[in-house]
Amino acid sequence: MTVRVRIAPSPTGNLHVGTARTAVFNWLFARHQGGKFILRIEDTDKERSRPEYTENIQSGLTWLGLDWDEGPIFQTQRIDFYDKAIQTLLDKGLAYRSYTSSEELEQMREKQMARHQAPRYDNRDRDLSAEQQAAYEAEGRKAVIRFKIDDAREIVWNDMVRGEVVWKGSDLGGDMVVARAAETEGEAFGQPLYNLAVVVDDIDMQITHVIRGEDHIANTAKQILLYEALGATVPEFAHTPLILSQEGRKLSKRDGVTSIDEFKKMGFLPEAMANYMTLLGWTPPDSTQEIFTLAEAAEKFELERVNKAGAKFDWDKLDWINSQYLHKIPAEKLVELLVPYWQEADYQVDIDGNRAWLEQLAALIGPSLTRLTDAAKESHLLFGESVEYTDDAIAQLKLAGVKELIQAILEAIPANLDETEAKAIIDRVMKAQNVKKGLIMKSLRAALMGSLQGPDLIQSWLLLNQKGWDRSRLLRSLNQI
Ligand code: GLU
Repeated sequence: MTVRVRIAPSPTGNLHVGTARTAVFNWLFARHQGGKFILRIEDTDKERSRPEYTENIQSGLTWLGLDWDEGPIFQTQRIDFYDKAIQTLLDKGLAYRSYTSSEELEQMREKQMARHQAPRYDNRDRDLSAEQQAAYEAEGRKAVIRFKIDDAREIVWNDMVRGEVVWKGSDLGGDMVVARAAETEGEAFGQPLYNLAVVVDDIDMQITHVIRGEDHIANTAKQILLYEALGATVPEFAHTPLILSQEGRKLSKRDGVTSIDEFKKMGFLPEAMANYMTLLGWTPPDSTQEIFTLAEAAEKFELERVNKAGAKFDWDKLDWINSQYLHKIPAEKLVELLVPYWQEADYQVDIDGNRAWLEQLAALIGPSLTRLTDAAKESHLLFGESVEYTDDAIAQLKLAGVKELIQAILEAIPANLDETEAKAIIDRVMKAQNVKKGLIMKSLRAALMGSLQGPDLIQSWLLLNQKGWDRSRLLRSLNQI
């Protein structure tokens, strides 16, 4: 048997982190098993589906490094298949036309609630006679198609993550709507609904394993009944844990976590994101190993090691993983990644004319980056943006003799400063003024960078010097004293 799995997003929004994580698990499973990973776009909801979301979903998956073997397959192009399945269900007597209006459904619900019962459809149209149907039609009522659900049924499956799951037919809300009312004359049925379309597609696409979020468990129970009704083999199911906020709630926009796009904008690398998402609910056999590529994870991925408990979204961990990847990127590649973030900060970046300098800058700030977005603040002084002196930098500059030190350095700077010369200047001033090297370094840092912390001082100085800003900045520092 060839393993065939799918990710089936609805294009009603940008690629969400939850969907992306489900896609990662499906991809890992397919690759581990030597199977196929299929992309299906569930776009039957015409009002909410948009082509730009389909675009965003595909580019987000690709950005993460997930490739699919078949698709995208669009549900809107498969309406005939759903209509055929609905007809089969009607022919077998497993589905029926239901005329209950939305007002009547509302009244039904209100009564149930007043009796403290869970709202459900009371199956009132299940056994309508031909005359009753004709009377409803004559009234101008439109029929939805409902699939019969046997309240006495117990639906049991062996979930690959959760073990045995048992659902009672009576907990499924009564006979379920599988197709809306037809809107135009030519339509056999109206819009097919999620559970029907999914089952028809999963059968046609010979899906062997359905791996999706735990929020679909009740749907799985309904879908198993549909597989049976359509005479198809039921696939394996694996329900992955929800992604939770730090407080243990279901992750929402309030937690600052939304679409994969947003993570990209926040300066996360795709490799780090994919790595982190793999760990959101899966524990590798060697649980101490936390940094791996998708391909490495695929070698070891088994659904049995997916946790049942919700996976907490941990920003610190994501940041740590991101920094691990960032710090490994060589400067010549890092510079390419940083350019958009520098440009966004309105710095003058001429990658063709000034590549060597920008590469040195990337090498300088690289080790202090956690996210790509840090590039702006880590390098703003080097792009000649104005210095803001911290209190301790000012205090440093006010120390006795520091003014003279800065003055001496200023006078000693030649036209072409290089590393050897920069170090020599510091040595010369140190000897001439008879002060400790630490005092010079600290004072120079305060004068150049406005702060006592930051990246390598000599390298920063050289980069500033190449831009020709050092003197004015040193002069300004002198004036502060
Ligand atoms: N369109 C559904 C969703 O985005 C698919 C669920 C499934 O995998 O069956 O949640």
